[in-house]
Amino acid sequence: MNSRRTTAAALLLAAFMLVSAACGDGGSKTQADTAAGTSTPPASSNTGSTSTSADASKSKPAETTAASTNGQNQASGTPGVKQTAQTDTKSGTKTDDIQVAANPADVAVLVNKTYKLPDNYKPQDLVDPNVPFTFKEKLEKRKMRKEAAAALEKLFQAAKKDNLPLAGVSAYRSHETQKTVYDRYVKKDGEAAANKYSAKPGHSEHETGLAIDVAGSSGKCAAEDCFGATKEAKWLAEHAADYGFIIRYPEGKESITGYQYEPWHLRYVGVDTAKAIVKQGVTLEEYVKNAVPVTKPKS
Ligand SMILES: [Zn+2]
Repeated sequence: MNSRRTTAAALLLAAFMLVSAACGDGGSKTQADTAAGTSTPPASSNTGSTSTSADASKSKPAETTAASTNGQNQASGTPGVKQTAQTDTKSGTKTDDIQVAANPADVAVLVNKTYKLPDNYKPQDLVDPNVPFTFKEKLEKRKMRKEAAAALEKLFQAAKKDNLPLAGVSAYRSHETQKTVYDRYVKKDGEAAANKYSAKPGHSEHETGLAIDVAGSSGKCAAEDCFGATKEAKWLAEHAADYGFIIRYPEGKESITGYQYEPWHLRYVGVDTAKAIVKQGVTLEEYVKNAVPVTKPKS
C-alpha cells in the first residue's frame, strides 16, 4: 500500500470515527461512550473540549427546559401534524407495535422507539446550514433539511446577538450510518445494552434531517449532561421555539419520550407547532397523539 493510499485510508477511518462518535441521537451515551466520544475526536477537530468535560458530565443539569410541566393540554391548534401510522410488515422486527411513519417528510413527523422512518427514506432537500460546527470537516452530519437549516441559521444568529454563540455538533445521520453505529454498539455491548443508549436504524431523529445536537461555540459539554447547566442551554430553552425548534427530550419526560433529558438535542417542527408544544408543556409524543383525532389527513 503506498503512502497516499495509507493516508486516504486513515482519513476515511478518522471521518468514520468522527461520525460514529456523535451524540446519543436521542440515545444517551454511557459514561464510557461519553469519555471516548465527542470530547476526544481523533482528527484535527477543534471542539475545544478536553477530557475535563467528560468528568464534568457527571454533574447534574441544573436548568429545566422551556416546557413548563403544567399538565393538561388542549388538542386545539395543531398545525402541520398529520401523523398517521401503519403497521410495519417489512421490518421483520419481533415487536408488533413498531409503527412506520406514513408522512416521513412532514416536519412534525414523530420518530421514536415506537415510530420509525421507512427503511428507504432519505430526506430530499438536505443542505449545509451556514453555521459553525465543532469540527471543520465537510461531513454528512453537518446537513439538515432546507427549512430546518434556514431556521437554524436564524436561531444561531439570535444566540450570537445575545452573546451566546453556538456551534453544531451533529445533525443529519443517514440510515446507513445509523445502522453502522448501532451494529457496532450491539457487537460491543450486546443488543439490550446498546438499545439503552443508541437508537435502532430508522428510529433516530437524526435520520429525519430535522434534528441537531448543539453546544456553545467552545464545544464544552458537547452532547453531555453538563450542557444543561450552561447559559446556552438556558437560552435555547427560552428561545428555540421562536425559530421552530423544541428541546425534544425534556427533563422528567423519559417515560414518554423514551430518552433521558438531552438539553442539547434540538428538533425542528416548525414555529407554530414548537410554540404550541411549549405553551402546552408537552412532548412531541403527547402533542401528536392529541392532534390525530382532531386533524383530518389530506385525502
Ligand atoms: Zn441528538
